[in-house]
Amino acid sequence: MSGSEVNIIYNGHIKMPYNWSVGETGSRFFAELRDNQKIWGTRCPDCGTVFLPPRKNCPVCMVQIKEWVEIEPKGTLETYTAVSYDSPVMPKVEGPLIYGIVKLDGADTGLVHLLGEINPDDIRIGMRVEAVFKPETSGNILDIAYFKPSR
Ligand SMILES: [Zn+2]
Repeated sequence: MSGSEVNIIYNGHIKMPYNWSVGETGSRFFAELRDNQKIWGTRCPDCGTVFLPPRKNCPVCMVQIKEWVEIEPKGTLETYTAVSYDSPVMPKVEGPLIYGIVKLDGADTGLVHLLGEINPDDIRIGMRVEAVFKPETSGNILDIAYFKPSR
């Protein structure tokens, strides 16, 4: 046996509480999700790109962004993947965990999120989807439970 055939796995367990500021832009974005179930992006004053998730600075124009734009909770699925195994770092859902990149109407960038209420075999790139909010919101990205098929 050579060394390259050996693969020893150590299963450790670290639990460490921490606090992390989401910043001024993130705070407003998450507060709108929590308090109003609204999705907001930001628009660059130079190139007009609408960012979702919102950005404080445009990475192309290198300018500060101050304009907020309300984004429709409906959009188009750009791509997706289905994960059929469990991992402690992934949300627990029934069936396969399906991630997608959704470009919501009014935004120029895609939002990575979960897809739900759909059979993986029925998913198509380009299909219309809409946000489903959790009944109880707490100010994080999972206040949107998932995106489901829409007309
Ligand atoms: Zn720009």
